[in-house]
Amino acid sequence: MERYVETTLAPIEVDVKWIDCAANIEACKALRGRNEFWLRILAQNPPALNAGTELLGLTQRGDKPDEIPCINIFYPMVEHFAEKMHTEEVLGAAVAHEIGHMYLGNNREAHSLNGIMSGVWLEREFEEMNLGTLHFTREQGARIRTALSAAITGDRERTRNSEGAGQLRVARSLERAGPLFEQLAPPFVLAVRRVRILNQSTP
Ligand SMILES: [Zn+2]
Repeated sequence: MERYVETTLAPIEVDVKWIDCAANIEACKALRGRNEFWLRILAQNPPALNAGTELLGLTQRGDKPDEIPCINIFYPMVEHFAEKMHTEEVLGAAVAHEIGHMYLGNNREAHSLNGIMSGVWLEREFEEMNLGTLHFTREQGARIRTALSAAITGDRERTRNSEGAGQLRVARSLERAGPLFEQLAPPFVLAVRRVRILNQSTP
């Protein structure tokens, strides 16, 4: 799964770093840095949100006060789609798609007719996945890199404002993953990764 995500992000000059939370729970619980979020692979089926469409993943961008930035993948759906494919590829493609949402926005803002940000995956998308050609468009790549850089500046601004206003506010970069780990008990969650993504051109 990790390799698939890395090779999907490499052409748009974005790197990804992982921490396996089962192997390193302390590192995983540490304060969230810039462009860091969590990935949960859930054992449950998706909630019946959209009748007729099948949901593979769901991204919480951390826009709401009670929300921690986290990508959720519904593993039974991955297995369902993976009948003709390798599970690792479907899982990797789903994670890469949701990373796209983290920076491109909601369905309307992020989805395109072609490529990995297609809103509905049909035979063509699965074929491209198999060939390793299910990509982000150049335009999506540019938007993701811009958003990555903006997140760094945005965090600095937020921290400065919260100090200046004398209010008790916590910058987004200081969040802990507390509530996520309260829900970590198996059998509901199969795996958790801490994910950091980086624009290759800005260290
Ligand atoms: Zn989507």
